[in-house]
Amino acid sequence: MEYNIALVKGDGIGPEIVDSAVQVLEKIGARFGHRFHFAETLAGGCAIDALGVPLPEETVQTCLASDSVLLGAVGGPKWDSLPANLRPEKALLGLRHALGLYTNLRPAKIYDALRDACTLRPDIAARGFDLVIVRELTGGIYFGERGRREGKFGPEAYDTEAYSVMEVERIARVAFETARKRRKNVVSIDKANVLETSRLWRETVHRVAQDYPDVELSDMLVDNAAMQLVRDPGRFDVVVTSNMFGDILSDEASQITGSIGLLPSASLGEGSRGMYEPIHGSAPDIAGQNRANPLATILSAAMLLRYSLSRTAEADCVEQAVDAVLKDGWRTADILGGREGRALSCTEMTEKVLERI
Ligand code: NAD
Repeated sequence: MEYNIALVKGDGIGPEIVDSAVQVLEKIGARFGHRFHFAETLAGGCAIDALGVPLPEETVQTCLASDSVLLGAVGGPKWDSLPANLRPEKALLGLRHALGLYTNLRPAKIYDALRDACTLRPDIAARGFDLVIVRELTGGIYFGERGRREGKFGPEAYDTEAYSVMEVERIARVAFETARKRRKNVVSIDKANVLETSRLWRETVHRVAQDYPDVELSDMLVDNAAMQLVRDPGRFDVVVTSNMFGDILSDEASQITGSIGLLPSASLGEGSRGMYEPIHGSAPDIAGQNRANPLATILSAAMLLRYSLSRTAEADCVEQAVDAVLKDGWRTADILGGREGRALSCTEMTEKVLERI
């Protein structure tokens, strides 16, 4: 098969880690008989420097013309003082909007070989966990009406949360479909004891659940979910939640793995096209030094193979290669921490993964 992949390398370590993932995709292509055509395009700080805007129209067009998008990271101190509408992060929101990406999938799992990096108590880490957070990405309070006004106690500010039945239904379906490919369990997280949007969320998720009798569904209040994630993360398989709750809980879930350099993410919409990126940022402190951990981006490429191209065997191959490299004891500086051993460079770690494919 032939596939067109748009590459948005971005800023900081973005170009280094995307180059690693490209080498991995090329090796997968050679092994499984596919050809990947890569179209490199600018977004973020580098686009501001070159073209004066964080998301040039030609970048949007290149992404729309592709089968899928692989993104490094955007941003850095150089652009921090720009006005809000010119900040590099605007590129991410603009791309999600232009590509109609309303779902964010964030797996968080603990690797056997990296249990000692887990920030939880050793007995909890020893039990392991492997969960996916399905976060609604384009609705809720982050996109609701907001403003400043004169209130009962003087000047005040407000943000509003609104969810339509349609928005909840479509994200619920993504969660149930995701669960079908995993351990068939969905926990829907809300604040239905207080919020009307959560009550609608809960009713709707339960209605959609009737189409998925093979998947077990339970509800959990968000405050309890925040506690359960650190007390017993192994109990979760697929978690589905709103934009703001998902934003907070997915960062909590990634933090407890102890290795943000390893965590991929996918943003998906109606069609098969998605945007795949590591969850970490552009790491300006180590940019250009060949010290970045490329594994989160390589695993993002695996998600691209799985979710956008439906290439399960190829995705498994990449994930197993990463597993094997970690089991062999190879570490980049971020996951070596203060422990004994030599830290591999970004290119050396990439080589190790390529050897295992
Ligand atoms: P960060 O994730 O870039 O870095 C946090 C720490 O983790 C740093 O010490 C960094 O060196 C380290 N780190 C991150 N990724 C690593 C990797 N692959 N290998 C080794 N070490 C790694 O977060 P930050 O410092 O808060 O943000 C830096 C810039 O990135 C900011 O401009 C921020 O806005 C941007 N950012 C972008 C995205 C994105 O593009 N999706 C996400 C988060 C932050």
